[in-house]
Amino acid sequence: MSQSPERSDPSADPRRRIPRTDHLLAHSQVRRASDSLSERVVRDIVRAAQDRARRGEIPPEDVLEEILSAIGGRPAASLRPVLNATGIIVHTNLGRAPLSAAARDAVQAAAGYTDVEFDLGTGARARRGAGARAALLAACPEAEDALVVNNGAAALLLATTALAGTGEVVISRGELIEIGAGFRLPDLIASTGARLHEVGTTNRTHLADYTGALGQGTGCVLRIHTSNYRVIGFTSEVEVAELTGPCRAAGVPLVVDLGSGLLAPEPLLPGEPDVAAALRDGADVVIASGDKLLGGPQAGILLGRADVIARLARHPLARAVRADKLALAALEATLTGPVPPVLDALRQDPEELRERTDRLAERVGGRTVAHDGRVGGGGGAEVPLPGWAVALESDLAAPLRQGDPAIVTTVRDGDCLLDLRCIPASEDERLAAAVASARGSRP
Ligand SMILES: *Cc1c(COP(=O)(O)O)cnc(C)c1O
Repeated sequence: MSQSPERSDPSADPRRRIPRTDHLLAHSQVRRASDSLSERVVRDIVRAAQDRARRGEIPPEDVLEEILSAIGGRPAASLRPVLNATGIIVHTNLGRAPLSAAARDAVQAAAGYTDVEFDLGTGARARRGAGARAALLAACPEAEDALVVNNGAAALLLATTALAGTGEVVISRGELIEIGAGFRLPDLIASTGARLHEVGTTNRTHLADYTGALGQGTGCVLRIHTSNYRVIGFTSEVEVAELTGPCRAAGVPLVVDLGSGLLAPEPLLPGEPDVAAALRDGADVVIASGDKLLGGPQAGILLGRADVIARLARHPLARAVRADKLALAALEATLTGPVPPVLDALRQDPEELRERTDRLAERVGGRTVAHDGRVGGGGGAEVPLPGWAVALESDLAAPLRQGDPAIVTTVRDGDCLLDLRCIPASEDERLAAAVASARGSRP
């Protein structure tokens, strides 16, 4: 090929040597590297590299290299896997519950076309998510029926909308909680058009407060477990079992929002209520999240009386808050598979944790210090989980976060703390290597 006139003229503007967009897009190396990216994304990367060359930030000869490196470092989705070294098990900022291997496989299998709403035997349409429903009922035989929706907040929205309409939701003033990031459950309920009928006080609510509020306009009685804080001292609340009689007599459904998702009691969290007990005590519907202590995907789980669940499932809002096939697959596999990572982390043996922590501390030149783990946003407010951490220099927190793997730690009293509770032991090698490389990358 003959040289272009621009190239033969040394005085020409170097910007004229910037390769053309169509040439770059057609370049075999660019095409091979960008298999998993859309043409628009590749075009944007190409344009950004050309712009850098135009501004003189890179020589025109480096444009191709710049594009290849931008494409190579860019996965199709920006969410990155993180090693959670905080010791906080259900960490909302880190995606709450990590899925079990069984649940990951189920998500993979359901990712394409799948029989989520189809009966392969008869060829007819079938009930959506029948497998997840069956797994829930098997795991919680106290429930007559189950419905899975998008998340716990959606479950609460659906229950109050379908049961109360524009009527009243009777609720204790001690349970008007904010669940994080500024979301307040009373605001959520009020947004449905239902009216809150608050009873009792912040610290004490009695049965008579509830019974005095029941009347013609009552849509439902709602009990909310205050999962993220605790009121201690001069307190009194009304048990679910005490409320059942008056609610039945008034023909008013009793809804219990437990949040945490414990289907059965957990010995390590004696203060944490479970779904089975609430149903045995007479709740008509119990609400729980899928990605807290249940250890599954984001989901809102409604368990309870068949007629009440049917009312919820029939409501138009149910369609707007339904669970997607990936969540249904992961939920079923979480319920039928082995112990999920969340419960593994909760039940870590402090002795074994200590040994792992000591080994890592020795390898990376840190100290072992006592460090309590926490359940986090999933419940068990204020319950310390005895454990340990490797204490490192606090200026390692940023390079560890920005490294590969990304590691999120806690900085306390000038130490960067690495808590192994929520990290599988199989990752210890990578963790040690990451600490070494974080040290090396410091200025
Ligand atoms: C977490 C929680 C919710 C909200 O559930 P999401 O699944 O986060 O939408 C509602 N109520 C209680 C008591 C909770 O703990």
